[in-house]
Amino acid sequence: MDEDPSLLVVVFDASQGAWAAKDALAAQGSTVGTFQGTLEAMMVFLQSYLLMHRRNDIAVVACGEAGSRMVFPTPAIEKDNVSLATGGVSSKRVQSCIVDGLRELMSASACGTASVQPAVSSKAPIAKALSQALCFTHRKITENPSVQTRLLVVQAGPDAPESYNAVMNCIFSAQKAQIPVDCLCVGPDSVFMQQAADVTGGVYCHVQEPNVLQQLLTLILPSQACRKYLRTKGQETVDFRAACFCHRRLIEIAYVCSVCLSVFCEFSPICATCGTRAVPKLLTT
Ligand SMILES: [Zn+2]
Ligand SMILES: [Zn+2]
Repeated sequence: MDEDPSLLVVVFDASQGAWAAKDALAAQGSTVGTFQGTLEAMMVFLQSYLLMHRRNDIAVVACGEAGSRMVFPTPAIEKDNVSLATGGVSSKRVQSCIVDGLRELMSASACGTASVQPAVSSKAPIAKALSQALCFTHRKITENPSVQTRLLVVQAGPDAPESYNAVMNCIFSAQKAQIPVDCLCVGPDSVFMQQAADVTGGVYCHVQEPNVLQQLLTLILPSQACRKYLRTKGQETVDFRAACFCHRRLIEIAYVCSVCLSVFCEFSPICATCGTRAVPKLLTT
């Protein structure tokens, strides 16, 4: 049905703070998804995706408190110019690359948070990882314009309202490049990811173990072409709230600058973003 090669780029949230909180809850008998369980489900899903088509390819970008990095393909694999599509990389090497990359990133986060910040921050730079993933897909599309690309974001922690602008810019870039963004939230519901899936035509799922693998295989695995023929439970509601530019709080009613469209929760006569002076409009009855 879908004969073009396809590239799936996974953005994996490996923030220490979010996973540590979830693992602690799981130890107390809660049914929340653990890091280990989610990673195992992810590996099975990636393997299934590669088996769907012999020319399917994957890339994984991980992000945590220490930043974001490409864990697969690694620079060594890129330099050898081998790919999964040509059978140049074994599935075992893929798994070890991903696990090693995640381990390095998480240990760097642990060292960084212990020495620099006493309190563990759960604010993963999802925006940075999204940009990296989009740059990678852009490069792949330039090399081969027939490649179908898609993104999957696996988010464990809550949204970081201070990265609202950066995340929204990534979402609109994906929309312009017609790259669907699927989102799997194993932590709290994500307003940003709901909007990302809605804007780009992707799938948003909010799940907890043991349903992670099931959701990945039934909702995320089918290609865009196949999804048209499936009767899946659509996204019921989308939270369209924006974060104000002054306090980065999610708000429902706001003042909007008529020039730069910045959103503020309190009225200010001069726009803090572009400096435009607001002219109060007097309404007469
Ligand atoms: Zn505000
Ligand atoms: Zn403005």
